Amino acid sequence: MDSECIFCKIAKGDIPAKKIYEDDHVLAFHDINPVAPTHIIVIPKKHFPTLNDVPEKELNILSKIYAAIQKVVQTTKIANKGYRTILNTNKEAGQEIFHMHFHVLGGRPLGTMG
Ligand code: AMP
Ligand code: ZN
Repeated sequence: MDSECIFCKIAKGDIPAKKIYEDDHVLAFHDINPVAPTHIIVIPKKHFPTLNDVPEKELNILSKIYAAIQKVVQTTKIANKGYRTILNTNKEAGQEIFHMHFHVLGGRPLGTMG
């Protein structure tokens, strides 16, 4: 828990979010500024600033996150049509919130990577 971190505050319930899925380790909620019809943020409840900061012995959090994504894409009905998962790390990738998170985007054609 980082007391200044907005996603820690959401995980703790101190800041509201439109939650879609939650378990002991993972939380998924709608992005406040969606760039696609479905835009979900999926976070570990534990604070890791970036992927670089996850110790190897704690990398199993990634399988918990992907398990949550599998559920969320069913709930939001984008599982079969298609979706993209994005994990931005550090400035050049566009990371703005330094609590590791996945974006799940869907609901429109997403184009090619760039
Ligand atoms: P990134 O640029 O990868 O760090 O992504 C941060 C994302 O968090 C952006 O898409 C923001 O729109 C989103 N975001 C910021 N604050 C909130 C919030 N309070 N609730 C939901 N999403 C948020
Ligand atoms: Zn945090």
